[in-house]
Formats: sequence, structure tokens, C-alpha cells
Amino acid sequence: MTAPHTLLTVDAHDRASVRRRDEAWLEQQWADPATRVLVVAGAQVRPRGGRIDWVRPDETPDGLRVLLGERDDRAWFALVTDRPDPDEPGWAGLRDLLPLLAGDAPESRADAPLLFHALGIAEWLAVTRFCPRDGTPLEPRAAGHELTCPRCGRTQFPRTDAAVIMLVTHGEPGADDELCLLGRQRVWPRGRFSTLAGFY
Ligand SMILES: [Zn+2]
Repeated sequence: MTAPHTLLTVDAHDRASVRRRDEAWLEQQWADPATRVLVVAGAQVRPRGGRIDWVRPDETPDGLRVLLGERDDRAWFALVTDRPDPDEPGWAGLRDLLPLLAGDAPESRADAPLLFHALGIAEWLAVTRFCPRDGTPLEPRAAGHELTCPRCGRTQFPRTDAAVIMLVTHGEPGADDELCLLGRQRVWPRGRFSTLAGFY
């Protein structure tokens, strides 16, 4: 089992931010069958066979193309669409996807930085719809990493939310009888516990 905090630093992709405005390069990558795409509906994805389901560009529905970056000599995108139909089974959010990433298979761990990047941008896009200055609907730019107001030109950037996470322990560190405090929310599935954490 890999600790979740290490998932983000193992095999991270090159975010290729200089490519985000290069429309010709973006089109070229999208036309390349080696490119891999993750379909994100709202901020949920649909795993297949217990794995994150990367597909070719020609297998995706219509939506916003978000460049995640480059890794292993290929480009990686998210294709962001509206929230899934609640009657459509199999869609899962970040918390439910963590068990897929925490296995020992190298390919599972390699998915984590790309998945977190995709879900972070998708969640931001889902909740950031209107210019805070004049209420005009925002338009995506920079391969999904900026939202610009067509009326006043003000640009919105992805947000970073400060959070804390801690492990409360009792007893001699590393001793066999050392204890730690875990919590759970009533709405969580049976058997899920977490260290204490929250936004601040
Ligand atoms: Zn505006």
C-alpha cells in the first residue's frame, strides 16, 4: 500500500504549460492515436476493470479538452463534460477512486498525478462559471487552465485551497503498542476511516 501523499510525487507528468496556447501543437496531439484521454464528467470518472480508463481521442464524447501534459513520449488530456446522468452507473469521485491508486501495481500509482490534475481542474471548471466582476459567463482558455471574461477581459485561474492533515498518536513512536486516532463521517461507506484533516 502506498501512502497517498507519495502518489503525487511518483512519476509525475510534465505539465507542459508552454504548450497550452499552442493550438497547432494541441491539434496535432489530439490527432495522434498515441495520445491518452480521461473522460471527466463534472468531477467524476468511470473506471473500467478496476483501473482508470484512459482512451484514445477518437473515443471521447464532445467536451472541453484540458491538456494535462506529457509523459512517456505522449500527450495526456482530460475531456471535461457536464456532470453525469445520476441514473448512469459506474461514475466515481476522488475518494472512491483512491483504492484504485493505492495498489502496488506501478501503472496504478502512475495514474495518480494525472488523475488528481484532471479532477482538480474539472472541479474548478464546474464551480467557476461567471465573472465575479460583471456576471458574464466565462470562456475557457489555455487548454482549460484559465477562464476569461469576454466582456471585461478579467482572467480567473485555478484555485489552491489550503488544508491541514494530521496524525494524532499515543505512546512510544514506532512501538508495537503505539496508537493513532482516526475519524470517520457518518455518510462514508462502512470501514472507511481517515486521519483528521480539514480546510482552513
Ligand atoms: Zn467580466
